[in-house]
Amino acid sequence: MSDKLNIYDLDYLTMQSYILGLGQPAYRADQLWQWLYFHLATDFSAMSNLPTSFRNQLDSAFVIAPWSPAAEEFSNDGLTKKVLFKLEDDRLIETVLMRYDKRRTICISTQAGCAMGCVFCATGQMGFQRNLSVGEIVQQVLFFARELAAEGDRVTNVVMMGMGEPLHNYEHTINALDILIDGKGLNLGARKVTISTVGLVPAMRRYAEEGRQTPLAVSLHAATDRERQRLIPVAKRWPLDELIAACHYYVARTGRRLTFEWALINGENDTQDQARLLGQLVKDLLCHVNLIPLNPTADYGGLPPSRERVTAFQAELNRHGVSNTVRVRRGIDIQAGCGQLRDRIIGTNRKP
Ligand code: SAH
Ligand code: SF4
Repeated sequence: MSDKLNIYDLDYLTMQSYILGLGQPAYRADQLWQWLYFHLATDFSAMSNLPTSFRNQLDSAFVIAPWSPAAEEFSNDGLTKKVLFKLEDDRLIETVLMRYDKRRTICISTQAGCAMGCVFCATGQMGFQRNLSVGEIVQQVLFFARELAAEGDRVTNVVMMGMGEPLHNYEHTINALDILIDGKGLNLGARKVTISTVGLVPAMRRYAEEGRQTPLAVSLHAATDRERQRLIPVAKRWPLDELIAACHYYVARTGRRLTFEWALINGENDTQDQARLLGQLVKDLLCHVNLIPLNPTADYGGLPPSRERVTAFQAELNRHGVSNTVRVRRGIDIQAGCGQLRDRIIGTNRKP
C-alpha cells in the first residue's frame, strides 16, 4: 500500500490548512480544488497555474491516480452501466451509472459490505467488511464524471444506494456529500444527492438536526415490527414507532418531503394488510413511497410480485392518499441491485 494520502479524502478546510502549512497562499486551495473537481485532473503535472515546486510537494504527499474498474457491464438497453472497483486492500465495491432522459444518476457505495443484514439484499448477505473513506466515496462519482465529460455530458444526480449503510459510516458519508454539493467542489447542488438509510434512528435525528437540504430516503419495507424485523434484523433496535417519530422529526426540522423505499416481495410484504397498515402509518407524514419489485438474490428465496398484486398494493395506498410510484429497478438484466455484480464475479455470496 502507498504511504501517500488519497487527495480526495481531504475536505476543503483540511486541504486549505495543509496548503497554508506548506507556506502557500490560501487561494492555492481554490485553484487545487478546481483542478480536482471542475477540471477532473488526473495528474498534478496538468495543474498549469500552480508553481512547479508546489506541484512536486503535492505529488510527493498525495495519490491522485484515477480508478479503473475491475469489471464492467452494460444493461441490454445500454442505458445503465455498472462497474466493480477493487480497492487498495482488494475489497470490491460497486458503482452504477443510470441514464434516464436528461438525468445522469450515479449510484454509489459507502461501505464494503454491510452490517445490517437485510435478508433480501446481496450486500447484506455478504456481511460487513469496512467503511469507505471520504475519497473512496467521492472517487466513484469522479470516475463517471470523467467518462461523461469525455462525451460532453455531466453527472446530474447521486444516490447513496449502492453497497453499505451510509448513516453507519456517518462522518465519511457527510464529508463526501459536502464535496459533491460544494459550489467549489463537484457542484451538484444539495437537492441532487440522496442518502438512503435502513433507518438508524439516532443518526437520522442527527442528520435532521444538521438541517441539510439533501434528500433522505428511508428503507421501510414493512408496516409492522414483526414483518420488518424478519426482513431487516437491525430493525429490532428501533421499533417502527421510534422510526416514524424520527421521520416526523426530519420533516419538521428540514421542511422536506421524505421518501420511503419498499421492496415488494411476493406473499411477504405485498399484502393488502401491509398496504393498509402502511397507509395508516404514513398518511400524516409529508412523504412519497417508492415501490420496487424485489430483485431476487442468491441467498434469499423471495420473488417479486405479479403486476396485479403491485397494482392492488398501490390502489390501497391511493385510498389512504399516500403518494407513491412503482419503480422497476433499471439495469435489472445486469444485476444492478447492490452487491450483485460482485457476487457474480467472485461468487462468495453463495452458500457452500
Ligand atoms: N443501506 C441503505 C442504502 C443501500 S440499499 C438502505 O438500505 O437504504 C439501497 C436500496 O436498495 C434500499 O432501499 C434497499 O432496501 C434496496 N434493496 C436492496 N436489495 C434489494 C433487492 N434485492 N431488491 C430490491 N431492492 C433492494
Ligand atoms: Fe445494508 Fe441497505 Fe443492504 Fe440492508 S438493504 S443490508 S442496510 S445495504
